[in-house]
Amino acid sequence: MGASVYRRILLKLSGEALMGSGSYGIDPDVLQRFAREIADLVAEGVQVALVIGGGNLFRGSGLAVKGMDRVTADQMGMLATVMNALAMQDALEHLDVPTRVMSALKINQVCEDFIRRRAIRHLDKKRVVVFAAGTGNPFFTTDSAASLRAIEVGAELLIKATKVDGIYSADPVTDPTATFYRRISYDQALREGLKVMDTTAIVLCRDHGMPLRVMNINEPGALLRLIRGEDVGSLVVS
Ligand code: UDP
Repeated sequence: MGASVYRRILLKLSGEALMGSGSYGIDPDVLQRFAREIADLVAEGVQVALVIGGGNLFRGSGLAVKGMDRVTADQMGMLATVMNALAMQDALEHLDVPTRVMSALKINQVCEDFIRRRAIRHLDKKRVVVFAAGTGNPFFTTDSAASLRAIEVGAELLIKATKVDGIYSADPVTDPTATFYRRISYDQALREGLKVMDTTAIVLCRDHGMPLRVMNINEPGALLRLIRGEDVGSLVVS
């Protein structure tokens, strides 16, 4: 048994993070790096559930702007998350980390259907579970899927891995007066419209007492320090 202070966490990775410095698709080096970081968490004894976005391939709102029916566009976005999940499953299993992809849309020749009790069983057996196809519904995001699944499987912490160190009062790239929040409440994040997660996702976390950490995925070892109990990134709680 390792030194994790958590028994079970859910990690949300954006699809865009998988692009690396590219503008589309999956960078194999980045995928492997993330897989290694996740394998390190598993080695610490923490049960890991993942939600991966699809923004590196298709985003429903973007397609709809160009005239596509929104529901069809969102379905393409959800299928994009399945592809990312399969890529992560492959990368993790190359590192000998048993992994199961569970989809909110039925596509069970490719991966398992999401069945909550089965997902919990996989996690108990120390398998990484990748929740794919978001919530299975159009007009939602994978941030909302991450909140929903974290609550459903009884994760102790939802980690949103981003490209920045945590939550700022404004965009630190464009606004030099932006201040860093080490700890804020859900209501403050909502009130100030901070770009933490979308509103639905934050409200779900707030209403079900799911603590949320926002941290930088590009900082090597940060995830490991976080699950060992270090105060990494920003914490959103009541
Ligand atoms: N999506 C959806 N329902 C969900 C989750 C996702 O329709 O429950 C679609 C939506 O079109 C979204 C796309 O899948 O734009 C990819 O997900 P997201 O934009 O959340 O990915 P990320 O920004 O994390 O890469």
